[in-house]
Amino acid sequence: MAPLEDGPREKCGVFGIWGLPGAAAVTYRGLTALQHRGQESAGITVLRDGRLSTLKGMGLLSHVFSSWNPEELLGESAIGHVRYSTTGRSEPQNAQPLVFRLPAGPLALAHNGNIVNAARLRRRLEDQGAIFQTGTDTEIVAHLMARSKAPSARVALEEALAEVQGAYALLLLTPHALLAARDPHGIRPLQLGVLEGRPVLASESCAFDAVGAQTVRDVAPGEVLEIGAGGVTSGGARGAREAFCLFEYIYFARPDSVVDGRSVYAVRKELGRRLAKAAPVEADVVVGAPEASIPAALGYAEASGLPFELGLIKNRYLGRTFIQPSQALREEAVRLKLNPVRDVVAGRRVVLVDDSIVRGTTAMQLVRMLREAGATEVHLRVTAPPYRHPCFYGIDTSVAEELVARGGVEEVLRAVGADSLAYLPLEEVAEATGHAGRLCDACFTGRYPIPVAGGTGKFELEAQP
Ligand code: SF4
Repeated sequence: MAPLEDGPREKCGVFGIWGLPGAAAVTYRGLTALQHRGQESAGITVLRDGRLSTLKGMGLLSHVFSSWNPEELLGESAIGHVRYSTTGRSEPQNAQPLVFRLPAGPLALAHNGNIVNAARLRRRLEDQGAIFQTGTDTEIVAHLMARSKAPSARVALEEALAEVQGAYALLLLTPHALLAARDPHGIRPLQLGVLEGRPVLASESCAFDAVGAQTVRDVAPGEVLEIGAGGVTSGGARGAREAFCLFEYIYFARPDSVVDGRSVYAVRKELGRRLAKAAPVEADVVVGAPEASIPAALGYAEASGLPFELGLIKNRYLGRTFIQPSQALREEAVRLKLNPVRDVVAGRRVVLVDDSIVRGTTAMQLVRMLREAGATEVHLRVTAPPYRHPCFYGIDTSVAEELVARGGVEEVLRAVGADSLAYLPLEEVAEATGHAGRLCDACFTGRYPIPVAGGTGKFELEAQP
């Protein structure tokens, strides 16, 4: 991949649990397994004696909770969040869970996704007197709920979601219930599990593994779950075309997660196998871009008969503090983070398998690195089609001009400096997931499952007067 700023960046992971002592500690462990989904801020809200207590801050989970006193977060139910901002700045007031005092009682919210009609809803709410505290789209859900006359938080949530368009996997904690909701297209992932007989929810199943929970099922697109004293009840509005984010399989999700019944690792390996058949090349060794592309590189090697080697090594101990916004510093960051193994690549023709080329920075750097280490040829093979259209559903690539593939294959090849370049066709990618026809592929095709009427910039809500 695309291990640094070059790739698409995911917004957020969520975790929740109801009715188990030590809920905050369980949530902390679950969020640790979801840290790849967001590193800007982290937080946990816990319910105890009808009160919500929240600890959150900027940075990695381990940093935010470095001096965590468990006494502060005692309770039997909790929700947690790790954030990568796609709406709103990376600032403390935008860290989640967001906590509100509604007429019906306190409410905590944690959100993964993007609400595409957020600006219009916010303008309307402000015209009605609402005062927003954050620059996030998530806060809109709380304001809509605050206006509801519904008898329960669940009904208020369903009313609010009827007005919201976009991608969301939401967790809400009230003194009486843990609520979970997934958008009608099921764009962002959310799963239900069980731990010691108590319900747990997480963005990915790897978080269940981390806490010793078992996966029960995916929360269905459009489903709203209410978990409380009466157990788990399901409602919501279903029936929209399913459009799960294809990029979760290609890059975002952890390979040890199972999404919609399919092992992410197995899907990536199959992508590599298909890529070897679709785009063979005479070479000596197959190398994967660390780390998301390693399973695909193994699949490519298996199907091509070429040896797989770890030709690029990632420094795991660099935090995001090294990642800077300018192009020059991004390139510097790639060199700090990745290093070629000369013994593997010197004097050899290398197939470099990567999962995506978004801005092109990382691919260009990797190709240059391999050449400097002595590779005689570098052939770039990508397990996805060209990424030509911005994502408005919770991935931070919403600036079309940044997408290098908009210029066509020849232009990308020139930009990255490889000897050859090939992508895996969309049909092959979709078939490899086993869910063809039920996926969002808008960043490859421009066919957006939810219409986006412009004006969805990351800081749009903060730019308002
Ligand atoms: S546009 Fe691409 S990255 Fe965004 S949700 Fe759809 S498939 Fe995922």
